[in-house]
Amino acid sequence: MRLKKFEHFEPRTLSEACQLLNEHGSKASVIAGGTDLVVRMKYGVTTPECLINLKKVDGLSAISSVGENLHLGALATLTQVRCSELVQERYPILAEAALAVGAAQLQNMGTIGGNICLEPRCWYFQQGNSWRQARPNCFKNGGAVCYMAKGSKRCYALYCGDTAAALLALGAKVRLVSLGGERTVPVEEFFVDDGMRHTNLRPGELLAEVILPGPGTGQRGTYLKYRKRGALDFPIVGVAAVINKGATAASRLRIAVTGVGSSPSLVVPPADFPAGTGLTHEMIDRMAEIARKQVKPVSHMEVSPGYRKELVGVLVRDALEKLAGA
Ligand SMILES: Cc1cc2nc3c(=O)[nH]c(=O)nc-3n(C[C@H](O)[C@H](O)[C@H](O)COP(=O)(O)OP(=O)(O)OC[C@H]3O[C@@H](n4cnc5c(N)ncnc54)[C@H](O)[C@@H]3O)c2cc1C
Repeated sequence: MRLKKFEHFEPRTLSEACQLLNEHGSKASVIAGGTDLVVRMKYGVTTPECLINLKKVDGLSAISSVGENLHLGALATLTQVRCSELVQERYPILAEAALAVGAAQLQNMGTIGGNICLEPRCWYFQQGNSWRQARPNCFKNGGAVCYMAKGSKRCYALYCGDTAAALLALGAKVRLVSLGGERTVPVEEFFVDDGMRHTNLRPGELLAEVILPGPGTGQRGTYLKYRKRGALDFPIVGVAAVINKGATAASRLRIAVTGVGSSPSLVVPPADFPAGTGLTHEMIDRMAEIARKQVKPVSHMEVSPGYRKELVGVLVRDALEKLAGA
């Protein structure tokens, strides 16, 4: 599995990185920890002609308090995130999610920005070139079929990042920069449910930082992940749940799922759901059922959509029971 030849740039500033991204357009890929991108390059799934390595960009790995908010530089490693005292104290759910990514080696190299931008996966294109050549190309390889959802007219590759679910549940935002300026968008608006283009990143734009809103009083959260091998695996389903007693009724309970569609998504409680009054067993059962009904999983290599639907219900129930008992 030799890598194809590519040019390698090491910008020192964000504007230099954006300049390079602008110059090389779709021939370039941004690389952070490389734990996702290099694997895809080795499999010949992604073949960038040049890599724009963010590792030497000044200040991009900082974790800092700004007013009530916490800012995480895109290049902060998952180990940095989960070991940060500020994260552990204020957003333990994010530390849990970062700890759930792969294994320690991947957390040491993988970054929060790379984890959020993680490419959706599927059993077909996540294989070597020669293996894939046994079948017609899928959408990701320039073809017109999707092996995840047969007969579909679009790519249904699955988004399997762990931290995005926690960030969604926490109501985080991402700051995106380009030569043309910058914009800050809520995480739910950053993702798109499309396996071919799962984020709203525009050409020439990169993710600079994650902004977590102040936790408010009485915020509690947890991230639960079901995976095949406990030691090292992507989520078959991941569920993040946050209860924020001080928030308005509409945002008091936020539940997000990952591993189910081409983007992580929020499970929306009905308007009459009394999340501020403490969770009873009846409320938890009701919310688990709502979550089960709202998600529409596609097939997974080893697990049927129906099974994953059930799993969502089970994990939501477990997460809320954990929070109710905390
Ligand atoms: C064996 C194995 C197991 C794994 N298990 C898990 C798991 O359980 N859960 C999980 O979530 N992930 C898992 N991963 C995937 C990966 O290791 C992590 O998601 C990691 O956090 C990716 O971060 P990175 O910095 O290495 O990203 P990179 O590989 O550098 O980049 C990933 C993608 O994001 C883009 N990108 C990176 N940074 C930016 C930025 N700042 N702005 C715009 N685009 C950017 C890159 O262009 C690339 O497309 C696993 C990987 C392997 C090899």
